[in-house]
Amino acid sequence: MNGGLVDLVIANGILVTPDGMTPGAVAIDGGRIAATGSDAAMPPARRVIDAGGRHVIPGAIDVHVHIREPGFSHKETWASATAAAAIGGVTTVLDMPNTNPPTATAKAVAQKIALASPQALIDFGVYGYIGEDNIADLAPMARAGASAFKLYLGSDNPLVPCPNDGAVLDAMAQIAKLGRRVTVHAENTGILRWREAQIRAAGRDDLQAHLDQHVDIATVEAVSRIALFSEWTGCPIHIAHESCRHSLPLIADAKRRGVDLTAETCPHYLFLSMDDAARAGGNALRVKPPVREAGHAGPLFEALASGLIDMISTDHAPHLQDEKRQASIWRTAPGFPGVETSMQLILTQVAAGAITLPDYVRMACEAPARAFGLYPRQGSLLPGTDADIVLVDMNAAGIIRGADLHSIGNVTPFEGMVTTGMAVMTLVRGRVVAEAGRIVADHGWGRALSAPA
Ligand SMILES: [Zn+2]
Repeated sequence: MNGGLVDLVIANGILVTPDGMTPGAVAIDGGRIAATGSDAAMPPARRVIDAGGRHVIPGAIDVHVHIREPGFSHKETWASATAAAAIGGVTTVLDMPNTNPPTATAKAVAQKIALASPQALIDFGVYGYIGEDNIADLAPMARAGASAFKLYLGSDNPLVPCPNDGAVLDAMAQIAKLGRRVTVHAENTGILRWREAQIRAAGRDDLQAHLDQHVDIATVEAVSRIALFSEWTGCPIHIAHESCRHSLPLIADAKRRGVDLTAETCPHYLFLSMDDAARAGGNALRVKPPVREAGHAGPLFEALASGLIDMISTDHAPHLQDEKRQASIWRTAPGFPGVETSMQLILTQVAAGAITLPDYVRMACEAPARAFGLYPRQGSLLPGTDADIVLVDMNAAGIIRGADLHSIGNVTPFEGMVTTGMAVMTLVRGRVVAEAGRIVADHGWGRALSAPA
Protein backbone atom coordinates (compact mmCIF):
# COMPACT_ATOMS: atom_id res chain seq x y z
CA MET A 1 0.00 0.00 0.00
CA ASN A 2 1.20 3.45 -0.94
CA GLY A 3 0.31 6.07 1.67
CA GLY A 4 -2.74 3.99 2.59
CA LEU A 5 -4.09 4.21 -0.99
CA VAL A 6 -4.82 0.83 -2.61
CA ASP A 7 -5.33 -0.03 -6.27
CA LEU A 8 -8.92 -1.21 -6.04
CA VAL A 9 -11.79 -1.81 -3.65
CA ILE A 10 -14.71 -4.07 -4.55
CA ALA A 11 -17.39 -2.55 -2.33
CA ASN A 12 -20.95 -3.40 -1.33
CA GLY A 13 -20.69 -7.14 -1.89
CA ILE A 14 -21.42 -10.35 -0.02
CA LEU A 15 -18.16 -12.21 0.60
CA VAL A 16 -18.49 -15.98 0.34
CA THR A 17 -16.13 -18.54 1.86
CA PRO A 18 -16.77 -22.22 2.68
CA ASP A 19 -17.62 -21.04 6.21
CA GLY A 20 -20.38 -18.63 5.26
CA MET A 21 -21.43 -15.33 3.75
CA THR A 22 -20.76 -11.82 5.10
CA PRO A 23 -21.71 -8.43 3.66
CA GLY A 24 -18.51 -6.53 2.95
CA ALA A 25 -15.72 -5.46 0.67
CA VAL A 26 -12.32 -6.52 -0.64
CA ALA A 27 -9.32 -4.20 -0.96
CA ILE A 28 -6.73 -5.14 -3.59
CA ASP A 29 -3.22 -3.83 -3.99
CA GLY A 30 -0.36 -5.02 -6.17
CA GLY A 31 -2.44 -7.95 -7.40
CA ARG A 32 -3.04 -9.31 -3.90
CA ILE A 33 -5.87 -9.08 -1.45
CA ALA A 34 -4.90 -6.29 0.98
CA ALA A 35 -7.90 -6.56 3.30
CA THR A 36 -11.46 -7.82 3.61
CA GLY A 37 -14.10 -6.41 5.94
CA SER A 38 -16.89 -3.90 6.16
CA ASP A 39 -17.17 -1.16 3.56
CA ALA A 40 -16.39 1.42 6.25
CA ALA A 41 -13.12 -0.36 7.13
CA MET A 42 -11.70 -0.23 3.59
CA PRO A 43 -8.70 1.99 2.81
CA PRO A 44 -9.03 4.70 0.15
CA ALA A 45 -8.62 3.30 -3.38
CA ARG A 46 -7.70 4.52 -6.86
CA ARG A 47 -10.72 2.67 -8.22
CA VAL A 48 -13.91 1.38 -6.60
CA ILE A 49 -16.11 -1.31 -8.17
CA ASP A 50 -19.62 -1.36 -6.71
CA ALA A 51 -20.64 -5.01 -6.41
CA GLY A 52 -24.24 -3.85 -6.07
CA GLY A 53 -25.00 -6.39 -3.35
CA ARG A 54 -23.82 -9.32 -5.50
CA HIS A 55 -21.71 -12.21 -4.24
CA VAL A 56 -17.91 -12.08 -4.23
CA ILE A 57 -16.18 -15.48 -4.38
CA PRO A 58 -12.63 -16.70 -5.01
CA GLY A 59 -12.01 -17.58 -8.67
CA ALA A 60 -12.87 -21.17 -9.54
CA ILE A 61 -10.04 -23.64 -10.15
CA ASP A 62 -10.58 -26.31 -12.81
CA VAL A 63 -7.98 -29.06 -12.37
CA HIS A 64 -9.02 -31.00 -15.48
CA VAL A 65 -8.97 -29.25 -18.86
CA HIS A 66 -7.67 -30.23 -22.31
CA ILE A 67 -6.50 -27.06 -24.03
CA ARG A 68 -5.29 -28.95 -27.16
CA GLU A 69 -2.12 -26.98 -27.88
CA PRO A 70 0.41 -27.97 -29.06
CA GLY A 71 -0.90 -30.22 -31.82
CA PHE A 72 -4.65 -29.66 -32.07
CA SER A 73 -5.06 -25.88 -32.41
CA HIS A 74 -8.01 -26.43 -34.75
CA LYS A 75 -10.04 -27.62 -31.70
CA GLU A 76 -8.86 -25.07 -29.11
CA THR A 77 -5.97 -22.72 -28.37
CA TRP A 78 -4.62 -21.30 -25.12
CA ALA A 79 -6.18 -17.98 -26.16
CA SER A 80 -9.65 -19.42 -26.78
CA ALA A 81 -9.69 -21.80 -23.81
CA THR A 82 -8.56 -19.20 -21.27
CA ALA A 83 -11.09 -16.69 -22.65
CA ALA A 84 -13.83 -19.31 -22.15
CA ALA A 85 -12.52 -19.98 -18.63
CA ALA A 86 -12.33 -16.30 -17.64
CA ILE A 87 -15.89 -15.65 -18.81
CA GLY A 88 -17.02 -18.73 -16.91
CA GLY A 89 -15.50 -17.48 -13.63
CA VAL A 90 -12.43 -19.73 -13.69
CA THR A 91 -9.11 -18.11 -12.75
CA THR A 92 -6.77 -21.14 -12.73
CA VAL A 93 -6.72 -24.28 -14.88
CA LEU A 94 -4.53 -27.40 -14.94
CA ASP A 95 -3.97 -28.64 -18.50
CA MET A 96 -3.77 -32.30 -19.44
CA PRO A 97 -0.76 -33.79 -21.27
CA ASN A 98 -2.42 -35.57 -24.23
CA THR A 99 -1.25 -32.92 -26.69
CA ASN A 100 1.11 -33.52 -29.62
CA PRO A 101 3.86 -33.80 -28.63
CA PRO A 102 2.56 -35.18 -25.33
CA THR A 103 3.80 -33.39 -22.21
CA ALA A 104 6.11 -36.29 -21.37
CA THR A 105 9.56 -34.69 -20.90
CA ALA A 106 10.98 -31.63 -19.12
CA LYS A 107 11.48 -30.07 -22.54
CA ALA A 108 7.82 -30.59 -23.45
CA VAL A 109 6.73 -29.03 -20.14
CA ALA A 110 8.89 -25.96 -20.81
CA GLN A 111 7.67 -25.73 -24.41
CA LYS A 112 4.01 -25.88 -23.37
CA ILE A 113 4.51 -23.16 -20.74
CA ALA A 114 6.27 -21.00 -23.36
CA LEU A 115 3.46 -21.59 -25.87
CA ALA A 116 0.73 -20.86 -23.32
CA SER A 117 2.18 -17.81 -21.56
CA PRO A 118 1.67 -15.16 -24.29
CA GLN A 119 -1.89 -16.40 -24.94
CA ALA A 120 -3.21 -17.03 -21.44
CA LEU A 121 -5.74 -14.71 -19.78
CA ILE A 122 -5.80 -16.68 -16.52
CA ASP A 123 -3.20 -18.59 -14.51
CA PHE A 124 -2.41 -22.16 -15.44
CA GLY A 125 -0.51 -25.27 -14.52
CA VAL A 126 0.46 -28.16 -16.78
CA TYR A 127 0.32 -31.88 -16.14
CA GLY A 128 3.16 -34.22 -16.94
CA TYR A 129 2.32 -37.61 -18.52
CA ILE A 130 3.33 -40.88 -16.84
CA GLY A 131 4.43 -43.58 -19.29
CA GLU A 132 6.58 -46.70 -19.33
CA ASP A 133 9.45 -44.89 -21.05
CA ASN A 134 9.69 -41.65 -19.08
CA ILE A 135 9.98 -42.62 -15.41
CA ALA A 136 13.46 -41.05 -15.28
CA ASP A 137 11.91 -37.84 -16.62
CA LEU A 138 9.37 -37.40 -13.82
CA ALA A 139 11.64 -35.46 -11.45
CA PRO A 140 13.00 -33.21 -14.26
CA MET A 141 9.40 -32.56 -15.38
CA ALA A 142 8.47 -31.44 -11.87
CA ARG A 143 11.52 -29.15 -11.82
CA ALA A 144 10.54 -27.74 -15.23
CA GLY A 145 7.16 -26.73 -13.81
CA ALA A 146 4.76 -29.70 -14.01
CA SER A 147 2.15 -28.95 -11.33
CA ALA A 148 0.89 -32.53 -11.18
CA PHE A 149 1.01 -35.78 -13.15
CA LYS A 150 -1.59 -37.66 -15.21
CA LEU A 151 -1.93 -41.40 -15.24
CA TYR A 152 -4.03 -42.94 -17.98
CA LEU A 153 -5.47 -46.29 -17.05
CA GLY A 154 -7.78 -47.42 -19.83
CA SER A 155 -6.42 -45.12 -22.53
CA ASP A 156 -6.47 -46.15 -26.17
CA ASN A 157 -4.80 -42.92 -27.32
CA PRO A 158 -1.43 -43.82 -28.94
CA LEU A 159 -0.02 -40.44 -27.83
CA VAL A 160 -0.51 -41.31 -24.15
CA PRO A 161 -0.60 -45.10 -23.84
CA CYS A 162 -1.56 -46.77 -20.60
CA PRO A 163 1.54 -47.96 -18.69
CA ASN A 164 1.66 -51.45 -17.18
CA ASP A 165 1.08 -51.86 -13.44
CA GLY A 166 4.78 -52.40 -12.74
CA ALA A 167 5.65 -49.07 -14.34
CA VAL A 168 2.76 -47.41 -12.52
CA LEU A 169 4.13 -48.58 -9.15
CA ASP A 170 7.63 -47.34 -9.99
CA ALA A 171 6.29 -43.98 -11.16
CA MET A 172 4.14 -43.55 -8.07
CA ALA A 173 7.06 -44.36 -5.78
CA GLN A 174 9.05 -41.60 -7.52
CA ILE A 175 6.24 -39.05 -7.43
CA ALA A 176 5.64 -39.70 -3.73
CA LYS A 177 9.04 -38.03 -3.22
CA LEU A 178 8.29 -35.07 -5.51
CA GLY A 179 5.39 -33.56 -3.57
CA ARG A 180 3.01 -33.78 -6.51
CA ARG A 181 -0.38 -35.47 -6.95
CA VAL A 182 -1.24 -38.01 -9.65
CA THR A 183 -4.59 -37.54 -11.36
CA VAL A 184 -5.89 -40.87 -12.60
CA HIS A 185 -8.17 -41.78 -15.47
CA ALA A 186 -9.35 -44.93 -13.72
CA GLU A 187 -10.61 -47.63 -16.06
CA ASN A 188 -9.37 -51.19 -16.64
CA THR A 189 -7.62 -51.35 -20.04
CA GLY A 190 -8.10 -55.09 -20.51
CA ILE A 191 -11.84 -54.96 -19.91
CA LEU A 192 -12.24 -52.03 -22.34
CA ARG A 193 -10.21 -53.69 -25.10
CA TRP A 194 -11.90 -57.06 -24.76
CA ARG A 195 -15.39 -55.63 -24.79
CA GLU A 196 -14.69 -53.23 -27.66
CA ALA A 197 -13.51 -56.13 -29.83
CA GLN A 198 -16.60 -58.18 -29.02
CA ILE A 199 -19.04 -55.31 -29.49
CA ARG A 200 -17.47 -54.21 -32.79
CA ALA A 201 -17.43 -57.79 -34.03
CA ALA A 202 -21.17 -57.87 -33.38
CA GLY A 203 -21.52 -54.93 -35.77
CA ARG A 204 -22.70 -52.41 -33.18
CA ASP A 205 -21.70 -48.75 -33.47
CA ASP A 206 -24.35 -46.86 -31.49
CA LEU A 207 -24.02 -44.77 -28.31
CA GLN A 208 -25.22 -47.68 -26.17
CA ALA A 209 -22.30 -49.75 -27.55
CA HIS A 210 -19.92 -47.18 -26.03
CA LEU A 211 -21.67 -47.50 -22.66
CA ASP A 212 -21.64 -51.31 -22.87
CA GLN A 213 -17.89 -51.21 -23.56
CA HIS A 214 -17.23 -48.96 -20.52
CA VAL A 215 -19.09 -51.24 -18.12
CA ASP A 216 -19.22 -50.02 -14.48
CA ILE A 217 -16.79 -52.65 -13.18
CA ALA A 218 -14.08 -51.30 -15.51
CA THR A 219 -13.91 -48.09 -13.49
CA VAL A 220 -14.77 -49.58 -10.10
CA GLU A 221 -11.84 -52.03 -10.37
CA ALA A 222 -9.40 -49.30 -11.43
CA VAL A 223 -10.43 -46.96 -8.59
CA SER A 224 -9.91 -49.81 -6.14
CA ARG A 225 -6.51 -50.77 -7.62
CA ILE A 226 -5.11 -47.25 -7.75
CA ALA A 227 -6.20 -46.55 -4.16
CA LEU A 228 -4.29 -49.68 -3.14
CA PHE A 229 -1.22 -48.55 -5.14
CA SER A 230 -1.43 -45.13 -3.46
CA GLU A 231 -1.62 -46.74 -0.03
CA TRP A 232 1.38 -48.93 -0.88
CA THR A 233 3.60 -46.18 -2.35
CA GLY A 234 2.45 -43.12 -0.38
CA CYS A 235 1.79 -41.28 -3.63
CA PRO A 236 -1.14 -38.82 -3.40
CA ILE A 237 -3.81 -39.50 -6.03
CA HIS A 238 -6.80 -37.74 -7.48
CA ILE A 239 -9.62 -39.71 -9.11
CA ALA A 240 -10.54 -37.91 -12.34
CA HIS A 241 -14.09 -37.56 -13.68
CA GLU A 242 -15.93 -39.97 -11.36
CA SER A 243 -18.93 -41.17 -13.34
CA CYS A 244 -20.23 -44.18 -11.44
CA ARG A 245 -22.16 -44.54 -8.20
CA HIS A 246 -20.55 -47.92 -7.56
CA SER A 247 -17.15 -46.25 -7.07
CA LEU A 248 -18.41 -44.18 -4.14
CA PRO A 249 -18.13 -46.85 -1.40
CA LEU A 250 -14.56 -47.58 -2.56
CA ILE A 251 -13.62 -43.89 -2.40
CA ALA A 252 -15.16 -43.67 1.07
CA ASP A 253 -13.29 -46.80 2.19
CA ALA A 254 -9.94 -45.52 0.86
CA LYS A 255 -10.41 -42.21 2.69
CA ARG A 256 -11.28 -44.07 5.89
CA ARG A 257 -8.04 -46.04 5.55
CA GLY A 258 -6.13 -42.76 5.34
CA VAL A 259 -5.21 -42.96 1.64
CA ASP A 260 -4.23 -39.48 0.36
CA LEU A 261 -7.01 -39.56 -2.22
CA THR A 262 -9.17 -36.77 -3.62
CA ALA A 263 -11.86 -37.09 -6.27
CA GLU A 264 -13.70 -34.95 -8.79
CA THR A 265 -16.84 -35.28 -10.83
CA CYS A 266 -18.06 -33.18 -13.76
CA PRO A 267 -21.34 -31.45 -14.70
CA HIS A 268 -22.11 -34.00 -17.44
CA TYR A 269 -22.22 -36.81 -14.86
CA LEU A 270 -24.35 -34.71 -12.49
CA PHE A 271 -26.92 -33.35 -14.93
CA LEU A 272 -27.12 -35.85 -17.82
CA SER A 273 -27.87 -39.53 -18.35
CA MET A 274 -28.44 -41.75 -21.37
CA ASP A 275 -32.06 -40.52 -21.20
CA ASP A 276 -30.75 -37.14 -22.44
CA ALA A 277 -28.93 -38.59 -25.44
CA ALA A 278 -31.35 -37.37 -28.11
CA ARG A 279 -31.48 -33.81 -26.74
CA ALA A 280 -27.70 -33.77 -26.14
CA GLY A 281 -26.93 -34.63 -29.77
CA GLY A 282 -26.98 -38.46 -29.91
CA ASN A 283 -23.46 -39.72 -30.50
CA ALA A 284 -22.16 -36.27 -29.50
CA LEU A 285 -22.77 -37.38 -25.90
CA ARG A 286 -19.76 -39.69 -26.25
CA VAL A 287 -17.21 -39.07 -23.49
CA LYS A 288 -14.80 -41.30 -21.55
CA PRO A 289 -15.85 -42.46 -19.01
CA PRO A 290 -19.39 -42.46 -20.40
CA VAL A 291 -22.46 -40.61 -19.26
CA ARG A 292 -24.27 -43.66 -17.87
CA GLU A 293 -27.89 -44.73 -17.56
CA ALA A 294 -30.17 -42.82 -15.16
CA GLY A 295 -29.48 -43.50 -11.47
CA HIS A 296 -25.86 -42.36 -11.14
CA ALA A 297 -26.31 -38.58 -11.13
CA GLY A 298 -28.24 -38.43 -7.84
CA PRO A 299 -25.69 -40.35 -5.74
CA LEU A 300 -22.80 -38.45 -7.41
CA PHE A 301 -24.42 -35.12 -6.58
CA GLU A 302 -24.99 -36.22 -2.98
CA ALA A 303 -21.34 -37.29 -2.73
CA LEU A 304 -20.20 -33.91 -4.05
CA ALA A 305 -22.49 -32.08 -1.63
CA SER A 306 -21.21 -34.10 1.33
CA GLY A 307 -17.54 -33.71 0.36
CA LEU A 308 -16.96 -37.42 -0.31
CA ILE A 309 -16.25 -36.24 -3.86
CA ASP A 310 -14.01 -33.30 -3.07
CA MET A 311 -14.41 -31.07 -6.06
CA ILE A 312 -16.06 -30.17 -9.34
CA SER A 313 -13.93 -30.14 -12.50
CA THR A 314 -15.02 -30.21 -16.14
CA ASP A 315 -12.81 -32.48 -18.29
CA HIS A 316 -13.09 -29.60 -20.79
CA ALA A 317 -12.34 -31.35 -24.13
CA PRO A 318 -13.47 -29.44 -27.24
CA HIS A 319 -13.78 -30.98 -30.71
CA LEU A 320 -15.08 -29.61 -34.02
CA GLN A 321 -18.66 -30.17 -35.23
CA ASP A 322 -17.49 -32.74 -37.82
CA GLU A 323 -15.55 -34.65 -35.20
CA LYS A 324 -18.62 -34.84 -32.92
CA ARG A 325 -21.31 -35.45 -35.57
CA GLN A 326 -20.38 -38.91 -36.80
CA ALA A 327 -22.79 -41.73 -37.62
CA SER A 328 -20.52 -44.34 -36.00
CA ILE A 329 -19.80 -44.05 -32.29
CA TRP A 330 -16.29 -45.40 -32.87
CA ARG A 331 -15.54 -42.42 -35.13
CA THR A 332 -17.13 -39.85 -32.78
CA ALA A 333 -14.55 -37.83 -30.83
CA PRO A 334 -15.06 -38.21 -27.06
CA GLY A 335 -15.57 -35.14 -24.85
CA PHE A 336 -16.91 -31.59 -25.10
CA PRO A 337 -16.20 -28.13 -23.67
CA GLY A 338 -17.09 -27.42 -20.04
CA VAL A 339 -14.91 -24.73 -18.50
CA GLU A 340 -17.24 -21.89 -19.51
CA THR A 341 -20.52 -23.48 -18.38
CA SER A 342 -19.65 -25.32 -15.14
CA MET A 343 -20.18 -22.42 -12.73
CA GLN A 344 -23.45 -21.51 -14.43
CA LEU A 345 -24.73 -25.09 -14.13
CA ILE A 346 -23.76 -25.56 -10.48
CA LEU A 347 -25.05 -22.10 -9.48
CA THR A 348 -28.39 -23.19 -10.92
CA GLN A 349 -28.39 -25.89 -8.23
CA VAL A 350 -27.55 -23.22 -5.64
CA ALA A 351 -30.47 -21.11 -6.86
CA ALA A 352 -32.70 -24.19 -6.56
CA GLY A 353 -31.58 -24.75 -2.96
CA ALA A 354 -29.87 -28.11 -3.57
CA ILE A 355 -26.55 -26.77 -2.19
CA THR A 356 -25.38 -23.44 -0.76
CA LEU A 357 -23.00 -20.90 -2.22
CA PRO A 358 -20.45 -21.67 0.54
CA ASP A 359 -20.70 -25.34 -0.56
CA TYR A 360 -19.93 -24.24 -4.11
CA VAL A 361 -16.90 -22.23 -2.99
CA ARG A 362 -15.62 -25.28 -1.13
CA MET A 363 -15.97 -27.66 -4.10
CA ALA A 364 -14.91 -25.27 -6.89
CA CYS A 365 -12.29 -23.05 -5.22
CA GLU A 366 -10.91 -24.24 -1.88
CA ALA A 367 -10.81 -28.02 -2.37
CA PRO A 368 -8.96 -27.98 -5.71
CA ALA A 369 -6.48 -25.43 -4.36
CA ARG A 370 -5.81 -27.57 -1.29
CA ALA A 371 -5.44 -30.81 -3.24
CA PHE A 372 -2.95 -29.38 -5.74
CA GLY A 373 -0.79 -27.36 -3.34
CA LEU A 374 -2.17 -23.95 -4.37
CA TYR A 375 -3.96 -23.02 -1.16
CA PRO A 376 -4.24 -20.32 0.15
CA ARG A 377 -2.58 -18.36 -2.67
CA GLN A 378 -5.43 -19.54 -4.88
CA GLY A 379 -8.92 -20.57 -3.78
CA SER A 380 -9.32 -18.20 -0.82
CA LEU A 381 -10.14 -14.58 0.03
CA LEU A 382 -7.37 -14.36 2.65
CA PRO A 383 -5.27 -11.18 2.86
CA GLY A 384 -1.89 -11.56 1.17
CA THR A 385 -3.09 -14.05 -1.43
CA ASP A 386 -3.66 -13.59 -5.18
CA ALA A 387 -6.67 -11.37 -5.89
CA ASP A 388 -8.39 -14.01 -8.06
CA ILE A 389 -11.98 -12.95 -7.54
CA VAL A 390 -15.31 -13.51 -9.25
CA LEU A 391 -18.44 -11.43 -8.93
CA VAL A 392 -21.50 -13.66 -9.13
CA ASP A 393 -25.02 -12.54 -10.00
CA MET A 394 -27.34 -15.14 -8.50
CA ASN A 395 -30.33 -13.62 -10.30
CA ALA A 396 -28.87 -13.71 -13.81
CA ALA A 397 -30.90 -15.98 -16.09
CA GLY A 398 -29.12 -17.77 -18.92
CA ILE A 399 -29.54 -20.32 -21.69
CA ILE A 400 -26.55 -22.41 -22.74
CA ARG A 401 -25.89 -22.25 -26.47
CA GLY A 402 -22.84 -23.79 -28.13
CA ALA A 403 -22.72 -20.89 -30.60
CA ASP A 404 -22.20 -18.47 -27.69
CA LEU A 405 -19.22 -20.34 -26.22
CA HIS A 406 -15.69 -19.00 -26.65
CA SER A 407 -14.09 -22.39 -27.31
CA ILE A 408 -13.31 -23.26 -30.93
CA GLY A 409 -14.88 -26.70 -30.57
CA ASN A 410 -18.28 -25.67 -29.22
CA VAL A 411 -20.59 -28.71 -29.37
CA THR A 412 -22.12 -28.79 -25.88
CA PRO A 413 -24.39 -31.51 -24.46
CA PHE A 414 -26.03 -28.78 -22.35
CA GLU A 415 -27.44 -27.05 -25.44
CA GLY A 416 -30.64 -25.21 -24.59
CA MET A 417 -30.38 -25.66 -20.80
CA VAL A 418 -31.88 -22.81 -18.81
CA THR A 419 -29.72 -21.57 -15.92
CA THR A 420 -29.90 -19.18 -12.97
CA GLY A 421 -26.77 -17.51 -11.61
CA MET A 422 -23.50 -16.72 -13.39
CA ALA A 423 -20.14 -14.99 -13.16
CA VAL A 424 -20.43 -11.36 -14.26
CA MET A 425 -16.86 -10.21 -13.57
CA THR A 426 -13.58 -12.12 -13.24
CA LEU A 427 -10.37 -10.73 -11.78
CA VAL A 428 -7.00 -12.46 -12.03
CA ARG A 429 -4.34 -11.09 -9.67
CA GLY A 430 -6.33 -7.90 -9.24
CA ARG A 431 -6.96 -7.22 -12.90
CA VAL A 432 -10.43 -7.45 -14.46
CA VAL A 433 -10.05 -9.95 -17.32
CA ALA A 434 -13.72 -10.63 -18.12
CA GLU A 435 -16.83 -8.54 -17.61
CA ALA A 436 -20.43 -9.24 -18.65
CA GLY A 437 -19.41 -12.08 -20.96
CA ARG A 438 -16.62 -10.18 -22.69
CA ILE A 439 -12.83 -10.28 -22.42
CA VAL A 440 -11.42 -6.93 -21.28
CA ALA A 441 -7.72 -7.74 -20.71
CA ASP A 442 -4.82 -8.53 -23.01
CA HIS A 443 -3.78 -12.11 -23.66
CA GLY A 444 -0.57 -12.84 -21.82
CA TRP A 445 -1.80 -11.60 -18.43
CA GLY A 446 -2.14 -15.21 -17.30
CA ARG A 447 0.96 -16.92 -16.05
CA ALA A 448 2.28 -20.33 -15.16
CA LEU A 449 1.83 -21.48 -11.57
CA SER A 450 5.51 -22.41 -11.61
CA ALA A 451 6.55 -18.82 -12.43
CA PRO A 452 8.23 -16.89 -9.60
CA ALA A 453 5.66 -15.03 -7.46
ZN1 LIG B 1 -9.78 -35.58 -19.51
